[in-house]
Amino acid sequence: MSEAQDKGAAGSKTKSASSGKKKSRHDFVDGDRYAPAPESSEHVVVKDSYDLFIGGDWIRAPKRTETRNPATGEVLSEVGEAGPGMVKKAVAAARKAYEETWSTMPGRERGKYLYRLARLIQERAREFAVLETMDGGKPIRESRDVDLPLVAAHFFYYAGWADKLDYAFPGRTAHSIGVIGQVIPWNFPLLMAAWKLAPALACGNTVVLKPAETTPLTALKLAELIEEAGFPPGVVNVVTGGGKTGRHLVRHPDVDKVAFTGSTEVGKMIQRDLAGTGRRYTLELGGKAANIIFDDATVNQAVEGIVNGIFFNQGHVCCAGSRLFVQEGIADTVVRKLKRRMDNLVLGDPLDKNTDVGAINSQEQLDRIKVLVDSGSEEGAKCWQSGQKLPRKGFWFKPTIFTECAQSHQIVQKEIFGPVLAIQTFRTPEEAVEKANNTPYGLSGGVWTDKGSKIFKITSQIRAGVLWANTFNKFDPASPFGGYKESGVGREGGLQGLAPYLDLR
Ligand code: NAD
Repeated sequence: MSEAQDKGAAGSKTKSASSGKKKSRHDFVDGDRYAPAPESSEHVVVKDSYDLFIGGDWIRAPKRTETRNPATGEVLSEVGEAGPGMVKKAVAAARKAYEETWSTMPGRERGKYLYRLARLIQERAREFAVLETMDGGKPIRESRDVDLPLVAAHFFYYAGWADKLDYAFPGRTAHSIGVIGQVIPWNFPLLMAAWKLAPALACGNTVVLKPAETTPLTALKLAELIEEAGFPPGVVNVVTGGGKTGRHLVRHPDVDKVAFTGSTEVGKMIQRDLAGTGRRYTLELGGKAANIIFDDATVNQAVEGIVNGIFFNQGHVCCAGSRLFVQEGIADTVVRKLKRRMDNLVLGDPLDKNTDVGAINSQEQLDRIKVLVDSGSEEGAKCWQSGQKLPRKGFWFKPTIFTECAQSHQIVQKEIFGPVLAIQTFRTPEEAVEKANNTPYGLSGGVWTDKGSKIFKITSQIRAGVLWANTFNKFDPASPFGGYKESGVGREGGLQGLAPYLDLR
């Protein structure tokens, strides 16, 4: 056990993640098609209880909530629920660290801490990936091959900027802002923490981070790693809890900037909370991305891209390609191939390396998906679901498509955040663009065609922050990410992601 683990949560017991009742192979029925290949969780240490990480100490909050594995319903641990007093303490610790150490430290020294953290993440990547999958329900293939490499890459990337801020924005001088309040969602718990922490810290700010209530464990483990990396106390503080904790943090008058990723609904509440305060904010909100397939596209490649864009990770992706526009001549072929591919997806144990589709994050999220899917059938769209049997325990939803959709249907207009795809056809590029833009969101999109000129034309007409051509869901720390319209304010990633954490004079 590491020193940090030893020190944390005075008196709290630890257990190996695999302790407790062993899963029967038949709890995950779909896995029966392949020999099971479960990733071991023996090496993951999950404490029975986690405290709040404030000012370099682990502080017990009197109120506690459980966090569960959504694939099994099993309780993994309990975490503290930070009330206004604890949030105040965390902000005070961040302010002290900002004034006494972090903001006055030379950039090259701050960079060293971030490089160290990035290397520690790489060393412990397997442990973090397994824990992310256990707490969130996403397939291990995604946490291991996408989330963790990107988390380390973000810390490496922004570590590199820490001593070059004066060259990043020619003609202007870069100053840190102060204390940053960061609130993140459950779909990429550790990656969202990295997107937030890495640029904020590189710029000389200190942070109070609030992870989502259903997926707090990897952020708390990251706090242990931050402690192990020797960051000065108070530079990073982690307070767990639900929406109320987030609201206390956002409303705290000594927080100089709020960085939020989550739903558009909560983003609007935060905007209202901050209106007139003069405090800064960036918002990364919901999406309803359109994938547009032209009849000159390589259909098999496009079908794989659509599946990757909406069904892997259960559609729990803000930039998920949840609307599909297919040129009329190839619509039947695309839908037929899509159904065949959907039937072949492996749905089940998220820790199994064969698994494509994992668990839905919570009962609440599952209920939300069901309500919207029911509305699709009620409003006249045609529903088709893949044939996998769902595991008996936990929260699951079958990959689902709707055809015969109208622009006014709720399944076309609202973010579902589940493995549900609304398909429509188009005849001309103009019609495709008009339909794709007919949404309150503008986060991402995809274009599939053999013609480079068509890619340039269509992508320049679609109002979305990120557009992929003949691929989908590709990320890089050097590339900015963010939305138009109700998908958000500001950008994360790249040079553009540094600016919101700086006072440029
Ligand atoms: P959510 O808005 O319900 O919650 C997000 C976070 O905000 C959680 O930590 C929650 O506890 C907290 N919160 C809730 N109410 C609050 C309040 N009044 N004040 C302050 N904090 C509050 O979102 P979610 O269900 O956790 O995540 C899914 C949403 O996140 C989807 O809409 C998705 O599109 C969006 N998302 C966007 C991006 C992006 O980069 N644009 C990335 C990931 C997720």
